Amino acid sequence: MMNDRVKPGRRGANHPKERELTAPVDHARLQAAVREILVALGEDPDREGLRETPARVARMYEEMFSGLRKDPAEPLQKTFTEKYDEMVLVKDIRFESLCEHHLLPFYGKAHVAYLPNGKIVGLSKLARVVEIISRRPQVQERMTEELADLLMKELDARGVGVVIEASHTCMAIRGIRKANAICTTSAMRGGFKEHPATRSEFMALIHGRWR
Ligand SMILES: [Zn+2]
Repeated sequence: MMNDRVKPGRRGANHPKERELTAPVDHARLQAAVREILVALGEDPDREGLRETPARVARMYEEMFSGLRKDPAEPLQKTFTEKYDEMVLVKDIRFESLCEHHLLPFYGKAHVAYLPNGKIVGLSKLARVVEIISRRPQVQERMTEELADLLMKELDARGVGVVIEASHTCMAIRGIRKANAICTTSAMRGGFKEHPATRSEFMALIHGRWR
């Protein structure tokens, strides 16, 4: 169903990061779909409180899924030549995403580190990449790997470490209702995978035990 508005991207696969969206969000279709949900539930979509809901929800989805129409590699194109070759870490990057299984929010913090290979990128760009990748229908595990692979490739880094800690509302408010559960995922590449000391330094820095 979704594929009628999606063209295969230059890498030609079905994985979200490998597709390129060309068409804008179809607002009329989104609104009709939300109205249909209300009708299916037995609600009256024309009562006062619900009248504007389809339009509001359509705008909300456009915002929450804005990353589908952005290239997460783009913020990483401007780099600076620098001899610095120690770990660069940005921790506690806040993000909000929607799980692709329930379209319910999951949100938390991403910690991103890399070992430069002669070039560095502005620190705010790392947060920008997290934002683009999170504003898509996601699963936390894939988001973690996408971040790691993208940084590895675009920065030509000697290593990348990504840890994401998130709360999933689909676990908190429905199903097993584990309200306080935090899900942690990690992806290590290059030096972070090969050298336990690098990985330990990264984990210590994230958890604030490195003074
Ligand atoms: Zn879910």
